[in-house]
Amino acid sequence: MKETILEMEAYAKEKNVPIIEKESIAYIMKYIKSHNVKNILEIGSAIGYSAILMASSSKEVKVTTIERDEARYMECLKNVKKCGFDKEVNVVYQDALEVNLTNVSYDLIFIDAAKGQYTKFFEKFKYFLAPGGVIITDNLKFHGYVGKKDMIESKNLRGLIDRIEKYIDFLKNNEEFDTEFIDVGDGLSVSRRKSDK
Ligand code: SAM
Repeated sequence: MKETILEMEAYAKEKNVPIIEKESIAYIMKYIKSHNVKNILEIGSAIGYSAILMASSSKEVKVTTIERDEARYMECLKNVKKCGFDKEVNVVYQDALEVNLTNVSYDLIFIDAAKGQYTKFFEKFKYFLAPGGVIITDNLKFHGYVGKKDMIESKNLRGLIDRIEKYIDFLKNNEEFDTEFIDVGDGLSVSRRKSDK
């Protein structure tokens, strides 16, 4: 598995596929172990890097991961198989906003897909969070651009950063969830239901 992980890191670099930073996935893996997390939902598989590492964190972990890009989905399936995690990682080829979930709940929901849609993902998937579970989101610093919108020329990029900033405000002002912002990698948030405390 170690070799495949290294190959995936090289592939991501070469083909410009965004994957989680090492210290962020290390934080999540540690969280999985220390909180006895078993069922995980990931929004945004890319090539399966974070899904495989999360599944490898501890023996009983099961990951469902959703990817809408066909080529990445195929690459993800290939990598999951190569690492021997076909039973632990279920890869779904669909737009996460169109997925229908029933009778499932997750101890950890990891949001790592289209940055402009974070609030939509949060609002859709919070209903599938098990008691005591957390929603973790990646890229809240967005490569250091968050909070520095005025310095950016590209209108598209400014729009995207604006939406991440709005998501951060949404988390900060959320009446249902408390959120901790963790300064690792590209910035993670960990949100827990207030009623779980
Ligand atoms: N979690 C992966 C990792 O660290 O190895 C990286 C995921 S990458 C940052 C984001 C992925 O989300 C892309 O591959 C993109 O195609 C996918 N994506 C974006 N919006 C999506 C959506 N609405 N539904 C499913 N996948 C989506």
